[in-house]
Amino acid sequence: MIIQLDVAITPEQQRVLEEQLAKVKYQGNPVTTQYANYLVGVGKKEFDIRAIGSLPGIRDIHRVSDDYKLVSKKWRVDDTVIDLGDDIRIGDGSLSLMVGPCSIESEEQVALTIAHMQANGIRIMRGGVYKPRSSPYSFRGMGIDGLKMWHEQTRAAGIKIITEVMTVDQIEVMHDYVDVFQVGARNSQNFNLLDALGEVDKPVLLKRGISGTIDELLASAEYIFSNGNERIMLCERGIRSYETAYRNTFDINALVMLKEKTHLPVIADPSHGIGIRRFVDKIAMAAAVAGADGVIMEVHHQPEKAFSDGQQTLSFAEANRLYKQLKRIEWLQD
Ligand code: PEP
Ligand code: MN
Repeated sequence: MIIQLDVAITPEQQRVLEEQLAKVKYQGNPVTTQYANYLVGVGKKEFDIRAIGSLPGIRDIHRVSDDYKLVSKKWRVDDTVIDLGDDIRIGDGSLSLMVGPCSIESEEQVALTIAHMQANGIRIMRGGVYKPRSSPYSFRGMGIDGLKMWHEQTRAAGIKIITEVMTVDQIEVMHDYVDVFQVGARNSQNFNLLDALGEVDKPVLLKRGISGTIDELLASAEYIFSNGNERIMLCERGIRSYETAYRNTFDINALVMLKEKTHLPVIADPSHGIGIRRFVDKIAMAAAVAGADGVIMEVHHQPEKAFSDGQQTLSFAEANRLYKQLKRIEWLQD
């Protein structure tokens, strides 16, 4: 149950509400976000919610039976739109593109990527400076100095940055140079990190865990929301299945299911989703047709020389072709 409180609710009205909830054996969890105050009620008993909805100090009340509540579409039927400023919105019905290398590698690479993006009117750049690598001997990112260099170049170009944060400590260090914090698949259930990102004034892109279910992804998003940050998008990036012919199994079903279950924008990552360059375009298009709000993908001026994930990274020429195809799908869907 979600109770949206009046901003002007008095302590006495709040006390009466808590008393009523206690009567029906509901636990009330207060949630304050950048937009509103809620009381998330958790309990088992069926009762007439109108009795609580009509109390003074309450704006709205909804029954949500799922384990996740604030991210559920049962409560908020309008899709969430995330505004990054400078006329860049995610989830507004357009297909958002977020492109860039797997890892930020050099000034030259960033400059070339920005030029490629500008030629295609793309305004959100992805890239990792803290890289979660399966082997400790692989390239693990340029760190904060790389982020600062990247930020300087993107600011001048009017491009936003989405990048992965791996630990709670990094949030503060990275904060001023980031527009969207990415939570990687390996941290999808790092609840301390999710709690901390709930207190941040920047949007979060939350990836599905490598073996994460849809409900687990939504529950992870609930951690962020219930800690105060409503600006969340979810990302399907492929899951681990018994299939070994490709890196991951891109779960196209997840896109339609998530769109039904949550009001949050849903982004597809075809690069990690299949892990094979020559198929990334097909998966990206399939995701767009299935209703994704955006596509995040890896591009590089020389994919074969990329420090990480080159095998699934598109060259600029390949990416150019794909953008055109995606545009056509976007028009078809209008
Ligand atoms: C990435 O985006 O480069 C990345 C490491 O993604 P994931 O967490 O989905 O593996
Ligand atoms: Mn990658």
